[in-house]
Amino acid sequence: MALLSPLCQLSGGCMGCCGHDYPSAEKIRDAIRENTTEFKAANPQTEQEFLQFRDRRSPMDLRFGVCRNLILESGCNFCPLHPARHQGKDLRINHCDINYLCKTAKIFETWSDEKQQRFVLFIESKKLDNITYSLKMDKSLLLNEFLIKEDSSSVK
Ligand code: SF4
Ligand code: SF4
Repeated sequence: MALLSPLCQLSGGCMGCCGHDYPSAEKIRDAIRENTTEFKAANPQTEQEFLQFRDRRSPMDLRFGVCRNLILESGCNFCPLHPARHQGKDLRINHCDINYLCKTAKIFETWSDEKQQRFVLFIESKKLDNITYSLKMDKSLLLNEFLIKEDSSSVK
């Protein structure tokens, strides 16, 4: 959940880069559900309490390949360490690579506004749940599909 790209916020929040080697969509959902339960039990309020929650396990200690900080809030994937939650202070620093962008997000940045808009509409038309969306972003599947579609419409 880099949130450096508008793509990170589509389809209920992308979590494609909040872990790796995911065993299955179901296991990802289980991991986020358990993280959310732990987060609610901890109920952090102060910065110190958020850091205690973050540091309850090491960054490499993933749950079914998923970062243990990733939770579900109002039906969306969400990182409680994000600066939006802490008056601009980024509690993810030293925990994950806050500047990471996936291949799709990097290429997206280079496109014109019109092409970006077409890609966003293409994604929205898929009506994917947030885990399917995340997995497809992580594997560049939506990017590849979109580029084929763009190619085929340009030769018509
Ligand atoms: S995988 Fe890409 S789109 Fe998804 S959160 Fe990471 S950088 Fe954003
Ligand atoms: S700390 Fe937050 S942004 Fe970083 S990998 Fe974990 S859930 Fe994702």
